[in-house]
Amino acid sequence: MEKLQAIVKRSFGSQIPIRERFFNIIFSAAVLIGIAGVVACIMLGSSEQAIMVSAGMTLTFPLLAFIGIKAKRQTGVIYFSLIIVNFVIFPALYLSGGAINCGIPSYFAFGLALTLFLTTGIPGTILAVIESLWYAFIFFASWRWPSICTDVPAFSRENGVKDFMFQAITSNTLMVCIAAGIVAKIIFHLYQREAKIVNETIVEVERQSIIDPLTAVYNRRHMYSYLTEQVKKAKEENTELSVVLFDIDHFKDLNDTYGHLVGDAALKALASIIKRACKDDEIVARYGGEEFLLILPGSNHKIAMGRAEEIRICLEKSQLAPELPADKPVTISGGVCTFHGIEDEELLVAKADERLYKAKQAGRNQIVGEEVDVI
Ligand code: GH3
Ligand code: MG
Ligand code: MG
Repeated sequence: MEKLQAIVKRSFGSQIPIRERFFNIIFSAAVLIGIAGVVACIMLGSSEQAIMVSAGMTLTFPLLAFIGIKAKRQTGVIYFSLIIVNFVIFPALYLSGGAINCGIPSYFAFGLALTLFLTTGIPGTILAVIESLWYAFIFFASWRWPSICTDVPAFSRENGVKDFMFQAITSNTLMVCIAAGIVAKIIFHLYQREAKIVNETIVEVERQSIIDPLTAVYNRRHMYSYLTEQVKKAKEENTELSVVLFDIDHFKDLNDTYGHLVGDAALKALASIIKRACKDDEIVARYGGEEFLLILPGSNHKIAMGRAEEIRICLEKSQLAPELPADKPVTISGGVCTFHGIEDEELLVAKADERLYKAKQAGRNQIVGEEVDVI
């Protein structure tokens, strides 16, 4: 089953050029029409000759495809296939009679369309013109010398002409409908899968546009758009909102001592600690190099201070990377700012940054909030 899926994808998938894809679709349709034709010939009691010819045609299509794949000389194979199909198979089917006789002219049109689609330039035009003349000659010959056409068995039975025509048209219509239905289903299925892949890609691109690649938390762009949204909501609904800006203490020293890779690992670990602490609609974003902003919708200043303190303590107890000394933990400082109905998102972050600076000045590894302003 998986192998079959792989073949279908390789033949009709979007990764192959449209022209080649269309060629494969037409080819598959032709094979299916051929198979349906053989079945119809047998069911309608066509002549052995008609059954043989339609079976031959059905086999020839996959054979041509096989030669095409092996030869890897697409242009030559396309011309070769078209010549065989249009100059041998279709005329033979037409002249061999049987119940599928009267629908055969539609195959000529199909052959001509195939030629025009698959071939370009002067060689294609010449081939199409020769084909048209060839078809005209076959129609003329079958009218002028009817004896060259095989006798149609159903035609001479008691059923009469009308019944034969009805059976022939029905069987041909059926053949084309079945083939078209199956091919349409394959294509539809394929496009559905491709649409799914495209949608998944869009979702992934959207995700990448808002996520920081190193720490996998939101980036600064998303942080501002979310904060703007939350400020608006807090204003309109008169709800609480706080933000905390964290910054790793002496991170430069950490990088200098243990290297940037260890620094990166520490950043990832810190980001995931803050992310794990987020509830409901709270988010954390990477604000800058080793600075993270925690947005706490619905939290007043006291709650925000408590949450920030929890994270600071949690970090003190954690070893952010195996290379770092367990007895000398990495610490963070934080600045908290709470919305009081007038601030915009930029002012909230700026105030949190001011308090973060104060926390650094006061000795680091601490959280500073509004009280400091008052002092
Ligand atoms: P302070 O306690 O005052 O915050 O001191 P600090 O050394 O942490 O402050 P500073 O802002 O001077 O240093 C920040 C450092 O963060 C400098 C830069 O090399 C480092 N940094 C920024 N982004 C990354 C990153 O993606 N990976 C690593 N490993 N380091 C980074
Ligand atoms: Mg720092
Ligand atoms: Mg910094």
